[in-house]
Amino acid sequence: PAGSFSVRTSWGIALCPDQGKDLQLLIRHADLALHHAKKHGKWRYKLYEPQLQETVYRRHAIREGLNKAIGHNEFHLVYQPIFDIQPEQAIVVGYEALLRWESPILGIISPTEFIPIAENSNLILPMGQWVFEEACRFLAAFREKAGHDVILSVNVSMRQLAQPNFVQQVEETLRKAGVHAAAFNLEVTESILMADVEKSVDCLEALRELGMAISLDDFGTGYSSFTYLAKLPISTLKIDKSLVDDLTDNGENNSLPLLESLLYMANRLGYRVVAEGVETPEQLRLLKENGCFFGQGYLLGKPSLARDIL
Ligand code: C2E
Ligand code: CA
Ligand code: CA
Repeated sequence: PAGSFSVRTSWGIALCPDQGKDLQLLIRHADLALHHAKKHGKWRYKLYEPQLQETVYRRHAIREGLNKAIGHNEFHLVYQPIFDIQPEQAIVVGYEALLRWESPILGIISPTEFIPIAENSNLILPMGQWVFEEACRFLAAFREKAGHDVILSVNVSMRQLAQPNFVQQVEETLRKAGVHAAAFNLEVTESILMADVEKSVDCLEALRELGMAISLDDFGTGYSSFTYLAKLPISTLKIDKSLVDDLTDNGENNSLPLLESLLYMANRLGYRVVAEGVETPEQLRLLKENGCFFGQGYLLGKPSLARDIL
């Protein structure tokens, strides 16, 4: 009825005296717990635990470390092959560039941990630029060695796309390196597109006009409908690893029916489909049988250093 509304709250709880003997500390701990509660879905409560403090410290240490990482040469790229899986013997059709960071203080840290932290600050911008420049160096070296170009997929974050001059910056980087735009395939995730659809579509259109292909990463985990996809300049769908994993699930999570229909629709609509995280021959067989033409995963090829490919 008109005039009624509901209020929902998030709670952070700290107990006295165990989790803070004075008011200040107690409030700080409760606040930390509140922050955690909000981050993990709103409208819930979280009880303070010392581990929350450690998470905060680690995030802080990672942010500090990332600040210096480019200048200190701590990043490198590895390249995972993408295959045409239909022939008896799968054929490499391109590579995906994956960022690696070895910090002298924190050791090797997974991109699943440091990329979200970089994305939450502006650090992802210089990092993304570094990835582009390094990718260009790889492509130039590949052409030199092999005598022909190869397609390189590069992951791009929302913040990068949101920069007003992103397209010019990309153009400039390619021009300096003497690399063709057509050698690139940019991988973006759905969350990127949802955030500000119109702006990102414009940006992606401009990149496609340059000659780059665009892939939708982690497909099948979000909410995109094919109707919505049709509005985007996307040519490739990357089926998320979780769907590939569940292909051989014996219970109700089995993803085969879903995958069958996704592949059918995608093929009818003219998308290229790459299955990610293929680890077993059984997964590969099911993918091939159901009309998946491209695959990537440890079974087919692990990410490797440029010098092992060139
Ligand atoms: P993603 O784009 O979905 O990349 C695929 C991830 O799955 C990679 O992890 C890859 O090493 C891993 N993978 C590939 N095949 C298999 C397999 O058969 N089994 C298993 N268990 N894993 C497999 P990685 O390199 O740790 O990257 C994680 C995520 O970090 C990426 O997910 C991507 O979202 C992000 N990321 C990596 N490099 C960059 C980058 O240069 N820029 C941005 N913005 N994000 C990046
Ligand atoms: Ca990717
Ligand atoms: Ca993915």
